[in-house]
Amino acid sequence: MTRHARRAGASLVALLIAMPLAAQAQTAPTKPDATTPAARMAEAEAKREKVSTFKLANGLDVVVLPDHRAPVVTQMVWYKAGSADEVAGTSGIAHFLEHLMFKGTKTHPAGQFSNAVSDIGGEENAFTTSDYTAYYQQVPAEALETVMGFEADRMENLVLSDEAVLPERDVILEERRQRTDNDPGSQLSEAVQAALFQNSHYGIPVIGWRHEMEKLSREDAIAWYDKFYTPNNATLIVAGDVTADQVKTLAEKTFGKVQRRAEPGDRAALRATEPEPVAARTVTLTDERVTQPSFSRTYLVPSDTTAKPGEAEALDVLADVLGGGATSRLYRQLVVGKGIAANVGAFNASSALKEGQFGFYATPLGEAGIAPLEAGIDEEIAKVQKDGITADELERAKNRVRKAVIYERDSQTSLARRYGAALSTGRTIADVDSYPERIEAVTVDAVKAAAETYLQKKRSVTGYLLPAPAAAEAAPATLNRS
Ligand SMILES: [Zn+2]
Repeated sequence: MTRHARRAGASLVALLIAMPLAAQAQTAPTKPDATTPAARMAEAEAKREKVSTFKLANGLDVVVLPDHRAPVVTQMVWYKAGSADEVAGTSGIAHFLEHLMFKGTKTHPAGQFSNAVSDIGGEENAFTTSDYTAYYQQVPAEALETVMGFEADRMENLVLSDEAVLPERDVILEERRQRTDNDPGSQLSEAVQAALFQNSHYGIPVIGWRHEMEKLSREDAIAWYDKFYTPNNATLIVAGDVTADQVKTLAEKTFGKVQRRAEPGDRAALRATEPEPVAARTVTLTDERVTQPSFSRTYLVPSDTTAKPGEAEALDVLADVLGGGATSRLYRQLVVGKGIAANVGAFNASSALKEGQFGFYATPLGEAGIAPLEAGIDEEIAKVQKDGITADELERAKNRVRKAVIYERDSQTSLARRYGAALSTGRTIADVDSYPERIEAVTVDAVKAAAETYLQKKRSVTGYLLPAPAAAEAAPATLNRS
């Protein structure tokens, strides 16, 4: 509805951290010293109620995350349907359907669900990525059955008439105009993604290409809805002040009535895979609307789902050591040391059904320009490939991961999103739960190997966002006469 992103989990490495850690709890001292992140995590883990999961007869997967600190619940429904699943020529349909899910059903006309949520003091939203589309509401605990009823209803009874579909197409076109066409930075990101992914639909923007969006029809919407919005292609996550038994009873009563009506198949197998990249690519966007130049470098890497054991975790640590905040190598070199960058960072966007991406971004300070920034980043990459990282850097990175895990576990919605994203990209609850252990197992050698293997220029796209020369300077002399 109001938010969409290429990947919900694709941000800074600090946010790419998963949760629970049973092993950590077992190895913690009996009276943990609450000043260390490891001890605080063990303490938080000991207090946390366990995750429950079950499957309804129609194939709907249900996950319950009890959290009794406040009388609120979060319901999320995640569909395994994202823009990378779109049929060629219909880009934007996944996100379009997200909007149309707010258009009403046979029994609940447009607006009724949203009004009910706001009347009971709740919040709602939805988001679409390359790999999934999700809807959520946060409401007082006693309203859970109400929102489950509404959500189950729109899983099968959505009204997709021309009256509902066509005006909303203007809304998504306007959304594209505002967020992408009017923003050179977004246009460049779109071009970088299109160059990075040479074969898979990850190179197609979630919002869609304008010329294809303009042609999206009621039939496209119905085809998408009928193929993917079936209970056996969805995960219901309920987090908050509720028990697994309560959720089971309510889920049977609401979602349990929804018919299984399609078999979407194995999405990973149906999608194209990227070839091994052989050529470094450069994308430049020059625009007079640009006031601040910037630099990016994005590499094709394996995701959590496609990586060999240990590789994705090593890339997480690598991103943290190179560009995770004010103590990172790049920040110390380029912002503090040389004073040529206003900001610089790195990330490993690893939550994906297929390929992941590892990136750097930087903004020059004052008149410094982009060239020395790029050289500085290349220098740090070469250094880590040659000499690796230190044991001390590894330990500090692990500590930041532990802190991020504690922070994320403390938030009902962050926790629900972590499980939802994993389950919608070919991962399991056990994968999420074992993340901290897997990070603990990362070695300095594994980080060096990951840098050598994946930070090769031929795997990358470099993006330059540059201001156009002032109009007067650029204009032909004949137009300058007074
Ligand atoms: Zn939207």
